[in-house]
Amino acid sequence: MQKVRVLIIGSGPAGLTAALYTARAQLSTVVVTGMQMGGQIATTHEVENYPGFPDGIEGPELAERIRQQAERFGARFDYDIVTEVDFSKGSPFLVRTQNEEYSADSVIVTIGATPRKLNIPGEFDYTGRGVSYCATCDGFFFRGKDIIVVGGGDSALQEAIFLTRFASSVTIVHRRDTLRAGMALQMRARENEKIRFIFDTVVDEVKGANGMANAVTLRNLKTGAADDRPIDGVFIFVGYDPNSVVFNSQLVTDESGYIIVDDRMRTNVEGVFAGGEIHDDVFRQAITAAGQGCAAALMSINWLGDRADQLQALEAETVAAE
Ligand code: NAP
Repeated sequence: MQKVRVLIIGSGPAGLTAALYTARAQLSTVVVTGMQMGGQIATTHEVENYPGFPDGIEGPELAERIRQQAERFGARFDYDIVTEVDFSKGSPFLVRTQNEEYSADSVIVTIGATPRKLNIPGEFDYTGRGVSYCATCDGFFFRGKDIIVVGGGDSALQEAIFLTRFASSVTIVHRRDTLRAGMALQMRARENEKIRFIFDTVVDEVKGANGMANAVTLRNLKTGAADDRPIDGVFIFVGYDPNSVVFNSQLVTDESGYIIVDDRMRTNVEGVFAGGEIHDDVFRQAITAAGQGCAAALMSINWLGDRADQLQALEAETVAAE
């Protein structure tokens, strides 16, 4: 069993930034990275909107740089997956990974969310090569292009509207004939001259040539008719799943599984904090996640300091009474 002051679960910008702060505060810090060091930015080929990089930076490089910065102050990294947590007895908290067991005085949960996938042929072959799950990250690369957006919820419509800044046409492909998105977004999308809709239709396959997506196979669910449609890009917004399953019922979540925190990043368990996309389904940016990771770390540092003072006072009282 390894004892640590702060255990951080997740290695996206929120977790890495939290590690930078807690390690720099001289607290022993371990980051359990999960399957992919860097989280979602590790799958973004270029990040152009993270402050400080006027020429942009590749997502994996940005993650690696923050990781190195945290490591410089003593943070350690465990390239493993959390399999079990026990917050029921309070601090220190038990956290198990596939290969290790930790006793952590404070835990910061930055385990993120995963864009839902269509799981169709070609989708993964062309991810980052015409298939994207992030309009803010990749929209710029589709200037003057024809793209499709898959989904009929708020994300699909909001991102489709955003993508019209770049693309010459955006076709929203939705599996039903009624959109799930709110009326205000629906009206804005319908009024946008660059946006078209194809209803009752699913994407069966993404096709490509020379390593880039160049067509999708669309199938009408009512008629069964299928045909190939040339495209330059496919943006998929069919929902996000917060990676909160491992916390079972120990942390309070909303109905979608996002961990609920107060304005100081505190979860319902004293000493456990959360930041980034595991609680934030609104902003979803590397920079906001980093900011939330920083806030969670500062709260963890304060909480551990207060707790150490309390324990010291209690010890002094006990000695005086003896
Ligand atoms: P969502 O509301 O769950 O919508 C997902 C959409 O994708 C639905 O239209 C769904 O179709 C479709 N879909 C799901 N699986 C599919 C599949 N396998 N193939 C094809 N289509 C599929 O997710 P979201 O749009 O990401 O929104 C998530 C939450 O964030 C919501 O509560 C939303 O209100 C909120 N949000 C709000 C705003 C805003 O207010 N501006 C912006 C973004 C997100 P069906 O409709 O047929 O189920």
